[in-house]
Amino acid sequence: MLIDHLSQQLLERSAAGLRRRRRTAATACAPRQQVSDDNSTPPRAMLGFCSNDYLGLASHPTLIEALVEGAHRYGAGSGASHLISGHGEAHAALEDLLAHWMTSSIPHARVLTFSTGYMANLALLTALGDSSATVFCDKLNHASLIDGALLAKAQVRRYPHCHLTTLERQLKVCATPIRLIVTDTVFGMDGDQADLAALLALAERYDAWLILDDAHGFGVLGQHGHGSLAQAGLRSERFILMGTLGKAAGVSGAFIAAHPVIIEWLLQTARTYVFTTAVPPALAHALRTSLQLIAGDEGMRRRVLLRQHIAQLRSGLQDLIDAYPAAGWVLGASDTAIQPLIVGDNARALALSDRLDTQGMWIPAIRPPTVPTGTARLRITLSASHTADDVQCLLAALHTVAKEWT
Ligand SMILES: *Cc1c(COP(=O)(O)O)cnc(C)c1O
Repeated sequence: MLIDHLSQQLLERSAAGLRRRRRTAATACAPRQQVSDDNSTPPRAMLGFCSNDYLGLASHPTLIEALVEGAHRYGAGSGASHLISGHGEAHAALEDLLAHWMTSSIPHARVLTFSTGYMANLALLTALGDSSATVFCDKLNHASLIDGALLAKAQVRRYPHCHLTTLERQLKVCATPIRLIVTDTVFGMDGDQADLAALLALAERYDAWLILDDAHGFGVLGQHGHGSLAQAGLRSERFILMGTLGKAAGVSGAFIAAHPVIIEWLLQTARTYVFTTAVPPALAHALRTSLQLIAGDEGMRRRVLLRQHIAQLRSGLQDLIDAYPAAGWVLGASDTAIQPLIVGDNARALALSDRLDTQGMWIPAIRPPTVPTGTARLRITLSASHTADDVQCLLAALHTVAKEWT
């Protein structure tokens, strides 16, 4: 019965163009990889525009060396959760360094590291969103924030994407003593950015706290890669910032930076912190090297390269859209490494992704429920490890398809 039930639903997903497919990479995370579609076919060379390794650090030799050194020093695993015996000096040093970075945006910031961003977001929403709180969520927030809000005991209000007048109306009539505004800083499927200055002004006016998910800003934005708050030049105790360490930082994990009392509360009560094994200390060790790379000349150079690729891709895509309006493609308004080419229909987005695939390009079609119905798209992500030629290759491939389709 269960198997029949699930099989039927899987068929329905396929029919709606929603069946997801997994590929297997035989080589390290990089723009050019050997990839196989399933275990029976040999891997083939592909040029990818889909990872979140925005600075190209995931396979950086210095980082790999640091990981090896960390493993030699601290072993392969942590052996227990942080509160039992899994917390090591590598974790502590990583938290200290991140706290040092974040104090320029959050006075007296303390930091707690988590195994993943997903778990960090669940921790925030469930530990802070008790029955005395209301959480206000942007409708395009990441799935982990949505799931956190579902698990929280708090009342939940959702506001249309970046629609701060609606948010203000909701804040105005809020009767609970604690108010938490929750938003992505850079939205993962669109690449657009929340107006942090305006959100802070609202938080101050209505005595609310701001939970910011900087998964796509940390490492990439701000002069030294310290993230969206550094880029915005804002500083407030009201900020509670979650950053991930598996995207631009090139390793794995996440952290929360906030007022020390908030951090202590998370440490004591957040179930996704307390009841899970600490990440291997070798990862924490490698991450300190990653942070040094991000903040140093190397990171600076990579952020400049990334911005050049973004400008090149956007101007090329805009020319393409102008030349082939009948293709019906729309380029989302984004200044970040995430560049959405919105196609609309699920089947068409999938067909575009498949057609690019035949030309050796790996760019996934993103469909509902990840994005709203009718906005299926190619989610193109750029990395500092792409070259200008790589970007040109993608533009040429898209050009071929646009010509075929119009
Ligand atoms: C990737 C992502 C997460 C989850 O982080 P993981 O470390 O991959 O679990 C959370 N929020 C946003 C906006 C993300 O893009």
